[in-house]
Amino acid sequence: MFEYAPAPESRSVVDLAGSYGLFIDGAFDSGKDGNVFKTVNPATEEVLAEVATAGPEDVDRAVAAARRAFGPWSELPGAERAKYLFRIARIIQERARELAVLESLDNGKPIKEARDVDLPLVAAHFFYYAGWADKLAYAGFGPDPRPLGVAGQVIPWNFPLLMLAWKVAPALATGNTVVLKPAETTPLSALFFADVCRQAELPPGVVNIVTGAGDTGAYLVQHPDVDKVAFTGSTEVGREIARTVAGSGKRLTLELGGKAANIVFDDAPVDQAVEGIVNGIFFNQGHVCCAGSRLLVQESIADSFLDSLKRRMATLRVGDPLDKNTDIGAINSAAQLARISELSEIGSAEGAERWSPECSLPERGFWFAPTIFTGVTQAHRIAREEIFGPVLSVLTFRTPEEAVAKANNTPYGLSAGIWTEKGSRILAVADKLRAGVVWANTFNKFDPASPFGGYKESGYGREGGRHGLEAYLA
Ligand code: NAD
Ligand code: MG
Repeated sequence: MFEYAPAPESRSVVDLAGSYGLFIDGAFDSGKDGNVFKTVNPATEEVLAEVATAGPEDVDRAVAAARRAFGPWSELPGAERAKYLFRIARIIQERARELAVLESLDNGKPIKEARDVDLPLVAAHFFYYAGWADKLAYAGFGPDPRPLGVAGQVIPWNFPLLMLAWKVAPALATGNTVVLKPAETTPLSALFFADVCRQAELPPGVVNIVTGAGDTGAYLVQHPDVDKVAFTGSTEVGREIARTVAGSGKRLTLELGGKAANIVFDDAPVDQAVEGIVNGIFFNQGHVCCAGSRLLVQESIADSFLDSLKRRMATLRVGDPLDKNTDIGAINSAAQLARISELSEIGSAEGAERWSPECSLPERGFWFAPTIFTGVTQAHRIAREEIFGPVLSVLTFRTPEEAVAKANNTPYGLSAGIWTEKGSRILAVADKLRAGVVWANTFNKFDPASPFGGYKESGYGREGGRHGLEAYLA
């Protein structure tokens, strides 16, 4: 194990105010009731800021502002809307370091991921959809596709700014206006994005940000003047939203959980596969809907493969998210840590064997060591339920048919991975996997041009690519 000197990124690049308001009609205000909640840095439990809670009347004002802005915004020529989106993309690039540090502070993710993955992808999504804004007539949705109106968007805490980009960029490119609610543990980057919108001189009301917890999200998705609901988060809340929206005439896309299988065949390049498995489950502390949370390894190589995996896991550095050498940062909240701990205890109680490398965890904050469970069967809860943390369940298989059957034996269907030297096997197996995204000899690769979304309880609709436009067009 190498010794590393500390390599902290500077916090001073972020200028945090003590309190933040709602962003409605191009201006910040404190909300009607003056209720606030606190957002903390999960690595230290330090309060970062107080943020306004939007009540029903605030949501109503935000939706009204989006409605007023919709007419003029939707009537702008696509090339004009594109200019705003390009401007937003460039400002995000200019402010990337500040936004990466902010995201790491509020979410707990390692700075190297916020800096090298989240922020470049956020900018890339705005650039990509800016490029579509004046080409909608050629996107395959008829000669004159029309926007839907006001989009109500609710996002989770795992990739706060990136999930905002996935939702806001296609909505604006197609001429819709937006009311977005970020997650209650990670509201800050959305509020900084509001400032980016002001800097870009986006017309007031085109983007509105309402902060608060699930109640605020519920007011938004229920609001009668919202034409389109887009949600990313838990399957449980997704179901509730589907029930609320049913029969209302609102359009709905849901991006929910996953329990992806990462399948390693006996001819796989071992070192490359180990890196992919590690990336698949430990990237972003495993708070990833498409995480490769089930390793299916061919029985004949299972022992030696697990030895290599454990050796690699022992080199993972857990700790200060702002240290540039950190691989695994803080768990996003006390509630999420409790959920991960509980499911892991259930894993042991049900008879699976638990292993973590030795690592010392900071005393304050929310932390969970990278963990694998071996001897897992398909009936175990840790093989069926989304843990949404740095916990890998390992199962074995003998034949490709068995691998496919086990991979598909899940209520989810968001993503999967295949590791093998044979191209023909990749194609044959990918064809049989019920998953929205299948990666081969790689994992967790994202591109704005590539559609993303699930089958079954992973939700419906696609985000990204040309497909992602469809959700925002009549
Ligand atoms: P959640 O679904 O409760 O929260 C996601 C977002 O929905 C947040 O902004 C939240 O405020 C909002 N929300 C909550 N209740 C709502 C309601 N009734 N109406 C409208 N909006 C509502 O997720 P969570 O509690 O933060 O996490 C629980 C589990 O969900 C995790 O352990 C994980 O398994 C899963 N999850 C999945 C994703 C994903 O990307 N698919 C993201 C976050 C969490
Ligand atoms: Mg926070």
